[in-house]
Amino acid sequence: MKDRFKAVLIRKDGDTQTVEDAILTPADLMDGDVTVAVSHSTVNYKDGLAITGRSPVVRKFPMIPGIDLAGVVEQSSHTGFKPGDKVLLNGFGLSETHYGGYSELARVKGDWLVPLPKAFSAAEAMAIGTAGYTSMLSILALEDAGITPDKGPVVVTGASGGVGSVAIAILAKLGYRVIASTGRVEEEAYLKELGAAEIVARSELAAEPRMLGKERWAGAVDSVGSKTLANVISSTQYGGAVAACGLAQGLDLPTTVAPFILRGVSLLGIESVYMRKARRLQAWERLARDLDVKKLAKMTHTIGLSGVRAAAGDILAGKVRGRLVVDISR
Ligand code: NDP
Repeated sequence: MKDRFKAVLIRKDGDTQTVEDAILTPADLMDGDVTVAVSHSTVNYKDGLAITGRSPVVRKFPMIPGIDLAGVVEQSSHTGFKPGDKVLLNGFGLSETHYGGYSELARVKGDWLVPLPKAFSAAEAMAIGTAGYTSMLSILALEDAGITPDKGPVVVTGASGGVGSVAIAILAKLGYRVIASTGRVEEEAYLKELGAAEIVARSELAAEPRMLGKERWAGAVDSVGSKTLANVISSTQYGGAVAACGLAQGLDLPTTVAPFILRGVSLLGIESVYMRKARRLQAWERLARDLDVKKLAKMTHTIGLSGVRAAAGDILAGKVRGRLVVDISR
């Protein structure tokens, strides 16, 4: 094991948050029963919030950010993992209360780890990351609610973002007609390449919500929240379901009970961070089966550890298309 390693570190002094490149030793790591040599991480929207300090994601300072990691086990006293095992981790308080993935070494609880699916390299698993794993959780929830391709189209909001891009690729492969809602009309060709059949302008869904609109889709994966989610719900057809997983437009939800009590629409809350292990494993198995890695490559860009600060600002500004992988060795 390296006796010194690189990491990104967030410090807080009074109200001032700083982000620095640090050199740490294994003794600086937090408690855990598995030490992982991290090869890749990602930049998700929540990483943007943590690094810029725009929302109180980090609850303990100093903190190594990065809500995702993938790498190889170096040391383990956990019965489920041994040195050499390839693993990944999404959430479980990384970057909130426990040191995260922007680091060459991580010490974590083995119970948080998922074996790297054989279908993916560490870089591909991080191209999926929390965003893509949350897309899969959203689609599993829609399936549990009885949504199938023959019931009607599925709308995906925040379509050019991480959750949106992965959701489109999976839904298209599963045979759904996918309607993509985006504020970036210039990304129409990209979204159609991922599998979108139709594009809706973000402005149309971000407008003042109607109590009930024309029935347009059977299901939805919404990473935007606020008025957009309200409009998505009021345009969901009778018996349809909406998976709500994000807040890119806002945390509010200005809707009424009309779609629920007059059309039997279901609103499904999606939480990825503390999702139980069995569901995580199911989501990763389904990703291995239902996500085309060629489409994953089309939506992914790779940066080095020193690029995460700039990327944090970019993702919050809605400037990142698809997914960003962090190659820790760069
Ligand atoms: P991205 O920034 O990659 O995607 C968000 C997309 O939302 C943007 O690309 C943009 O898409 C759209 N968007 C941005 N700003 C606005 C706005 N003001 N109004 C309407 N649409 C907007 O982020 P991620 O995909 O990583 O995450 C998406 C959301 O999901 C975040 O809110 C994140 O916190 C949440 N999330 C929640 C999880 C959970 O456990 N519930 C797990 C993972 C993510 P376009 O340009 O195409 O319109």
